Amino acid sequence: IGGIAKEPPMHIVHIAVEMAPIAKVGGLGDVVTSLSRAVQDLGHTVDVVLPKYNCMNLSNVKDLHFRNSFAWGGMEINVWFGQVEGLPVYFLEPQNGMFSVGCIYGRNDDGHRFGFFCHAALEFLLQSGFQPDILHCHDWSSAPVAWLFKEHYAHYGLSNARVIFTIHNLEFGVNNIGRAMAYADKATTVSQTYSREVAGNPAISSHLHKFHGIVNGIDPDIWDPYNDHFIPVPYTPENVVEGKKAAKEALQQRLGLRRSDHPLVGIITRLTVQKGIHLIKHAVGQTLERNGQVVLLGSAPDSRIQNDFAHLADQLHSSHAGRVRFCLTYDEPLSHLIYAGADFILVPSLFEPCGLTQLIAMRYGSIPVVRRTGGLYDTVFDIDNDKERARAQGLEPNGFSFEGADPSGVDYALNRAISAWFDAREWFNSLCKRVMEQDWSWNRPALDYMELYHSARK
Ligand code: ADP
Repeated sequence: IGGIAKEPPMHIVHIAVEMAPIAKVGGLGDVVTSLSRAVQDLGHTVDVVLPKYNCMNLSNVKDLHFRNSFAWGGMEINVWFGQVEGLPVYFLEPQNGMFSVGCIYGRNDDGHRFGFFCHAALEFLLQSGFQPDILHCHDWSSAPVAWLFKEHYAHYGLSNARVIFTIHNLEFGVNNIGRAMAYADKATTVSQTYSREVAGNPAISSHLHKFHGIVNGIDPDIWDPYNDHFIPVPYTPENVVEGKKAAKEALQQRLGLRRSDHPLVGIITRLTVQKGIHLIKHAVGQTLERNGQVVLLGSAPDSRIQNDFAHLADQLHSSHAGRVRFCLTYDEPLSHLIYAGADFILVPSLFEPCGLTQLIAMRYGSIPVVRRTGGLYDTVFDIDNDKERARAQGLEPNGFSFEGADPSGVDYALNRAISAWFDAREWFNSLCKRVMEQDWSWNRPALDYMELYHSARK
């Protein structure tokens, strides 16, 4: 690490289709922003190239202005420039309106649109005379950067660059992912355990020599209970009990929950099969059974799942009035209040490449209750079962976890969590303080990425 610090600064360009907070669907958007900021903080130059969607909240883009336009693929492409969270971002706007469709994903021509974007992004870098050291692309959606670069652009002016490809979720677009794995100089996925879980996949198995697991971090400035407009009392580990009490009361009031002291379980998720829908439903019932409260913030891309949860919400809101609230939407501000106001954040995913919600939960002093898979396994250490595994990483245990994918597993973790809340409140409060003090930022992982970038250039 000391050696790296002395090397000259690098120029890294991310080509991506999501970027928090302006164009975020899931963790990929968070990672593009927070990894870039962390690497920039280490003294390197980082640029992001993003499609100019018409569904972006431009109030989060500072000094947005038209920069230039260029012709490519028989089309005029406008380039806009602005700052997002302190990062320089180039927005590409093809004049045929392919990104003015009101959404990021969900059209049957997503593959075509993002393929075009990747090609246009490389063309933009070439025509603008950029000389990046690293081109970093993400998931199936910007995977084409890897082979378009190696087959075409590496032979022109961008020849100095190396391609890094990161898999945030192997579930989608395996053909693109396999192809990018073959062409990239180095590839990563977002936790060690997930890298082992997917190592046998044919898209990956022949490329293990250049494939690495690097756990995601969260941006401690973006997720900061001491500086958060969406919660009532700023707090640090020193006044975590007071801060979380105020947040819980505000949450209860806002969502029509009884303002009494119950253990409150929060769930913040895309509602998809990956996230363990049947386990989520079971946990809601079990928490109510144990005299707890539940807040679920979730949006389902699949309308059948959305309707199913809407139906369940109607039932529960009347059968357990004042004890449970489902908010079946995407709501960033509300997510902050839940992270702060909940005692527990439940993440029972069937698989989870990294998972950010358990990391954000800990930053806000909420205790994660998770299934032992992927990045959840790497970041959550069970109070009763993982003392040694935690200490091997210089940590103390920080949550509750379970194996298996049936209700008894959830019960095993959830019952211990809720019992601790009822029976050992002082210890529980010290646990909240402890998880807040753990460092789940990019401090360590950003150095791992820098090492990887350097090794790609050797
Ligand atoms: P994934 O990328 O699979 O959705 P992650 O845990 O990596 O899962 O990232 C999820 C991110 O999206 C977190 O920042 C979380 O707070 C946020 N999020 C998920 N669902 C919602 C929602 N309904 N409203 C607001 N934020 C959400």
